[in-house]
Amino acid sequence: MSLKIYIDGKLYDKEDAKISVYDHGLLYGDGVFEGIRCYVGKVFRLDEHLDRLWDSAKAIALEIPMTKADLAKAVVDTLAVNNIKDGYIRLLVTRGVGSLGLDPNKAARPSIIIITDSIALYPADWYQKGLDIVTSSVQRMPPAALSPRVKSMNYLNNILAKIEASNAGCIEAMLLNQKGEVAECTGDNIFFVRKGKLCTPGPDAGILEGITRNSVIELAEKMGIEVCQTPLTKFDAYVADECFLTGSGAELIPVVKIDGRVIGDGTPGPITKKIIERFHKLVRE
Ligand code: PMP
Repeated sequence: MSLKIYIDGKLYDKEDAKISVYDHGLLYGDGVFEGIRCYVGKVFRLDEHLDRLWDSAKAIALEIPMTKADLAKAVVDTLAVNNIKDGYIRLLVTRGVGSLGLDPNKAARPSIIIITDSIALYPADWYQKGLDIVTSSVQRMPPAALSPRVKSMNYLNNILAKIEASNAGCIEAMLLNQKGEVAECTGDNIFFVRKGKLCTPGPDAGILEGITRNSVIELAEKMGIEVCQTPLTKFDAYVADECFLTGSGAELIPVVKIDGRVIGDGTPGPITKKIIERFHKLVRE
């Protein structure tokens, strides 16, 4: 049976799930989205994802033509139709079909798309051995230009950094902000462990405040690990004892090398491993 995709209240076979070439989401990246996980038949932090989607939409003056409750139901129903208990959900709201000009007022109505599928952002063995990442020369988008808090359908900033990582033989890149502070990776937030303390850039660093990030902070606090959200530089990255990334798609993945420098002893650290183990329990509770 073909996977069903939800578009504006109707379900389509994957092969037939198409939108107009006049949709401003395609023409201009004018839209917002969420990447969400589902574990053992339960959507992980759906309310938080919907809140962030609504904030992203409001920030770009896009009115989602549905209530949060109805959209939540549409997500759950689409998962059920596809019989997906453990998987990934991509939720998009595009500006909709408009004319060949930027003006969003020329777009008739936003389109809502729900894709439920599986995802494997990194090869499985990297979760065991840890990632080798590089610092990108591409600066994270300054909030004064376009806030990274808007999870928009324009990811070119991140894609340019991803290309750089790939050219350097790496799978992921760390982006710095305008001040030269660590912001985040192309699709993940970043954490460091130093002297038993967990540190991560705060929202002021110009990051997308990840839902996985926030759940890891909560989890670490419950585990009695001190957490600091503070400005961090490449220095902090290089002297860290441990490092890992967080994201709905990636989940939690250790980092063992940054810019060719070995982090800790070059293997996933003990605190990282403990947090990863607890996270996998949490999402299945
Ligand atoms: N930063 C960026 C730039 C992202 O695109 C994402 C989501 N893929 C994240 C961080 C992590 O956010 P979340 O944990 O909510 O998936």
